[in-house]
Amino acid sequence: AWNHETIQLYTKAMDFAAVKHRDQRRKDASETPYINHPIGVANILTSEGKCFDFEVLIAALLHDTVEDTDTTFSEIETLFGEKIANIVKEVTDDKTLPKMTRKELQIEKAKTASTKAKLVKLADKLYNLRDLQRGLPEEWTEERRSQYFIWAKKVVDNLRGTNQMLEDSLDVVFREQKLID
Ligand code: NDP
Ligand code: ZN
Repeated sequence: AWNHETIQLYTKAMDFAAVKHRDQRRKDASETPYINHPIGVANILTSEGKCFDFEVLIAALLHDTVEDTDTTFSEIETLFGEKIANIVKEVTDDKTLPKMTRKELQIEKAKTASTKAKLVKLADKLYNLRDLQRGLPEEWTEERRSQYFIWAKKVVDNLRGTNQMLEDSLDVVFREQKLID
């Protein structure tokens, strides 16, 4: 439940992620600060998903720190505890694997992920797909964007049955992209 301790941990996660991602930018044309993404994912979870589970929201703030910065799981575990570290672990791609394998693994791992990890994944995909709808990243072709939507739908299809509001919002995106009727 939310109390002084969990609010402090949530604030600490915002600060930690902001420091870790400080030199990173999104792939959009205006090079938005990267931290906008994890904060936006947490906002999607509360505003649209009506999810107020503090472990999920803190994991959302931290979800790209290990994948995209020098952060280690043991650092996350020390600062935020084992449960949050395990959610982050579930949503982190192993970057030592080839890209194709990583993309396939996301589709497969979605099926058996914990509910908390599925919630982070749904909000993460929703944020990224809306980003891609707004604009094509520098040096991406239309073909690459359209392949990304097709792949993301395969991941999302394996996350279903988790949060109807987030899944409905994702279906709005897929409908706009003409991937569903
Ligand atoms: P990437 O994984 O390279 O890029 C997408 C990821 O970048 C997102 O998942 C997101 O991850 C992050 N991101 C940062 N900024 C943005 C933004 N503005 N909008 C959306 N996402 C952003 O993409 P893929 O490798 O999946 O490429 C898409 C498709 O293109 C694939 O199906 C692949 O087959 C193909 N491809 C084509 C290439 C080419 O044409 N040269 C090369 C590689 C792949 P996060 O949440 O972690 O920030
Ligand atoms: Zn992300």
